[in-house]
Amino acid sequence: MTEPREQPAFYCDAMLGGLARWLRAAGYDARYDYGIDDSVLLQRARDEGRLILSSDGPLFMRKIIKQGTVRALFVPRGMSRLGQLHFVMKSLNLRLLRPRCMACGGELAELQKHEAIDEAPPLAYKRCGRFWRCLRCGRLLWNGTHWKRVEQKLLELAG
Ligand SMILES: [Zn+2]
Repeated sequence: MTEPREQPAFYCDAMLGGLARWLRAAGYDARYDYGIDDSVLLQRARDEGRLILSSDGPLFMRKIIKQGTVRALFVPRGMSRLGQLHFVMKSLNLRLLRPRCMACGGELAELQKHEAIDEAPPLAYKRCGRFWRCLRCGRLLWNGTHWKRVEQKLLELAG
């Protein structure tokens, strides 16, 4: 495997929404649109310079992919979402980056804790030390139990 030249941005096909969320947690910009048509997927991936992840064999017969205009990686079927993530990271020699928003893939900006006081659920505010805001969708995130589980799984995967 060669060294990664860049941080690829991804476009997950209609079947790989779960993988998109995990890729974002691993720090990658991954787009996913529910029920998207293959032709639209290909077009948007080309326009936005994204690498397509797909488990759909026939998609790889499209000219735009065969000619290399759009890069794509086939993700074998029958894997768990974490298995898919592991496969993609290994195939493309990716490392864990700073997490992105799992909902939309936007970058996160860390807040001062007091800035989250009006918005965070009281219990989360009391228990969690770190808060972030997604710069794309505006969502508030914190290092609660859900995130700790996600982080743990990512570390296991990378280790
Ligand atoms: Zn977001």
